Amino acid sequence: MQLDHIGIATRGIDEAMELWIKTLGLGLEHTEEIAEQGVRVSMLSLGETQLELLEPLSADSPVGRFLEKRGPGIHHIAIRVDDIRAELAKLKTTGARLIDETPRIGARGCLVAFVHPSSAGGVLLELVQHQLATAENFINERNLF
Ligand code: ZN
Repeated sequence: MQLDHIGIATRGIDEAMELWIKTLGLGLEHTEEIAEQGVRVSMLSLGETQLELLEPLSADSPVGRFLEKRGPGIHHIAIRVDDIRAELAKLKTTGARLIDETPRIGARGCLVAFVHPSSAGGVLLELVQHQLATAENFINERNLF
């Protein structure tokens, strides 16, 4: 296991990039929109890990509601796992509150699932399993979700 990325809620990715990219010199890996989650995402490389800048596409999206309540800042941390379904099953047996009972497709075509902060020491925790984003996987996961 390792830290995959840290998610940071921003009001605007372009504005946030002034600091992270222009001033501090991090590299932009890519930007994408995840319509299902109502969010625009930019991944910045930071050594072994990444920063994930999040910008809501609407006020009533999860990140939009987070900004409304708490303002910009650290939104979640993401841990990379080899078998996300096994980790979810393990968490379930401990009674952990899972936001996603089954994995869904996140940024970069990864399988992701969120654990509620009430079960993770006040931290919104994301589990990430990297996978080859084959068309077949993609379709299967969509259907599962
Ligand atoms: Zn994330």
